[in-house]
Amino acid sequence: MSENKPKPAWHGIPREDIPWYPTVDPDSCIGCQLCYVTCGRAVFEMHDGVADPVDAMNCAVGCTTCGNICPTGSITFPSLDAVWKLERERQIFRTVKKEAVQRAERESAKQARDEAQKAMATVSTRARVEVAGEFGDKQFLVKLEKLVEGRPFDIVRLKLEVSSVKAAREKAPSYMEFEVTSEQQEDIDPFLREVVALVHEVDLVLVSQQKL
Ligand code: SF4
Ligand code: SF4
Repeated sequence: MSENKPKPAWHGIPREDIPWYPTVDPDSCIGCQLCYVTCGRAVFEMHDGVADPVDAMNCAVGCTTCGNICPTGSITFPSLDAVWKLERERQIFRTVKKEAVQRAERESAKQARDEAQKAMATVSTRARVEVAGEFGDKQFLVKLEKLVEGRPFDIVRLKLEVSSVKAAREKAPSYMEFEVTSEQQEDIDPFLREVVALVHEVDLVLVSQQKL
């Protein structure tokens, strides 16, 4: 059973002042329920096999959808003349103009939000880097640390693989893997270029760089 709630005003006119609602002829209604399932405003209930517009004033002003599709033409509406008269008498167009501005603002805000979200979705904020070579006295880690100092980036999940202590002493090649991350969800690209430049500067080999 529907509970009729207060209706919002229609462009500044209290809804109860507007004579727009469906009426069903119970003698011709065949109970097909098309109006009941079609109306997005829950205006109808079915009672004893007949459509009953229990919340008729919830009908959208000017809508005639259920009347248009009713197979027996059982749904009728008051004349639109009354609505047009009200539009003129209550001078709704000033209100409509304000509503149009607000709607355009909402739509452009939504568009800006959607575009920002889309841009965020395409921004890479993490990348994995693999480096090989002889790390010895190149102070690569110290230089990496200086690169991130005071900036919204970090080097994480760092792994250094050295085959043996002796090999390291003998300056055999080692392998390093780490992730470059942005702490503020910014595009990692410019910083990643700096990291790669550092790898080349210290004569290490860039095995791979992959955005995650
Ligand atoms: S669409 Fe028409 S015939 Fe079908 S239930 Fe509604 S009023 Fe009755
Ligand atoms: S005219 Fe539209 S809003 Fe009104 S009752 Fe029919 S379908 Fe629902």
